[in-house]
Amino acid sequence: MINVTKPYLPSFEKYNERIQGIWERNYLTNQGPELLSLEDRLKEYLGVNHIMVVNNGTIALQIAIKALGITGEVITTPFSYVATTNSLIWENCKPVFVDINEHDCSINPELIEAAITPKTTAIMAVHVYGTPADVEAIDRIAKKHNLKVVYDAAHAFGVQYRGTSVLNFGDISTLSFHATKLFHTIEGGAIIVKDPEVYDIVRKLGTFGHVGDDYYLPGINGKMNEFCAAMGHCVLDEVDSILTGRKRAFEQYESGLKDVQGVALPACNLSEGSTNNHAYFPIVFQDELTLLRVISRLNTRGVYPRRYFFPSLNTLPYVNPSSCPVSESISSRVLCAPLYPGLGEDQIAGIIDTIKQTLV
Ligand SMILES: *Cc1c(COP(=O)(O)O)cnc(C)c1O
Repeated sequence: MINVTKPYLPSFEKYNERIQGIWERNYLTNQGPELLSLEDRLKEYLGVNHIMVVNNGTIALQIAIKALGITGEVITTPFSYVATTNSLIWENCKPVFVDINEHDCSINPELIEAAITPKTTAIMAVHVYGTPADVEAIDRIAKKHNLKVVYDAAHAFGVQYRGTSVLNFGDISTLSFHATKLFHTIEGGAIIVKDPEVYDIVRKLGTFGHVGDDYYLPGINGKMNEFCAAMGHCVLDEVDSILTGRKRAFEQYESGLKDVQGVALPACNLSEGSTNNHAYFPIVFQDELTLLRVISRLNTRGVYPRRYFFPSLNTLPYVNPSSCPVSESISSRVLCAPLYPGLGEDQIAGIIDTIKQTLV
């Protein structure tokens, strides 16, 4: 059976060795040494100034919203994982959906200004499939209208934009370190903050809002435990080979499918000046019926790709109805192909063949 992804595990011996120190110290959580050293390594690896590692990518978004004082209406994308929208609603904000570009599946900056009202306080965009959103246009609009910018960068680990980490754009960027992500800590996430004063608020909010006996803010439990941090160290040791393995698989899909009639490959449309982390290989078919035929054909061969992202978030039953025709159309037709290091060349060739055979 081949699933859309396979969590990366270091060798058992390696993890075992790493967690021995936890037994020696008998210190399991609360800003422990595994966590603090992981934060230092990530800061260096990612090329960012202020990072807080937390217990998942959704709480990272929630803390970002709180720390920036975001309220009222937030302009966001309908083409993402449901956590993007849910975090806004959970923080009592109203998501206002703005449609996406066809070519990169990110929010279309040309449509943002028309959606701004006196209640708008922020833009929450997503670097979909690791392709940077149009950060320059978004930041320009945000400055003009005095809006905060949060990037859900759950897909964008290690992505560069014009020579710097894409995580350095906006007021805050968040990462997810969930087991299925390119870099993971089993469950986990991170908050990357531009302004040191906001960073101080973020750290307090993520640790119950107090430092020792001084109580500052109504914070929450965003802490990562030492076992997850230890996994992060082990995966980070091997992240370059993970990236290389993904790149190889990605390029095989790309060369096998790029000239095929009736498929579009949005992750191959890199914006100018940006790099790709090869985290996903989305394939957009001509219509939903074709997509369903491809899925069923792949399933009979033991291959389980995923409809990611589906449905378009503006159609969720608990949001105000709005129309985002591009997002609704693409989400009904897009499939993420299995992609992980260790997926065999012959297996990928088989998947490509099955897709091609279904299309003729
Ligand atoms: C994975 C993901 C999240 C959620 O992260 P968790 O760590 O699972 O909470 C949020 N947004 C996007 C785009 C994601 O892919």
